[in-house]
Amino acid sequence: MVMTKKRKEILEIIEKSNKPLTAEEIYKVNKLKPNFSTIYRTLNFLESKNLIKSVSFENGPKYFYSTNKHYHFLYCIKCGNIEIFDKCTATQLEEFVEEKFDFQIIDHVFYFKGLCKNCQEG
Ligand SMILES: [Zn+2]
Ligand SMILES: [Zn+2]
Repeated sequence: MVMTKKRKEILEIIEKSNKPLTAEEIYKVNKLKPNFSTIYRTLNFLESKNLIKSVSFENGPKYFYSTNKHYHFLYCIKCGNIEIFDKCTATQLEEFVEEKFDFQIIDHVFYFKGLCKNCQEG
């Protein structure tokens, strides 16, 4: 795999971030200032190599994060805001699924959808 300067820069931005980032956010902090389609192509490449993963909610943008991180999400259906938490209690459920369906689980994406604090008021 060829890790060009552009790929490395984008991977570093994602790995250093403490939250998932959209392509637009990555674009804003990218010092090499590639064009937008380069960012998208690079993100697709990194994801195909399993160096990053992504998640999207409803019709919202994709959020990219490091394969080394494990996040769960709270997605607000009203304002589209996302919050993350890393407390994972899926082990029991995974064991159940693996046994019941003879399915080998490698990862899971988990999110709650609802209303954030701001959107509950008023
Ligand atoms: Zn909200
Ligand atoms: Zn989990």
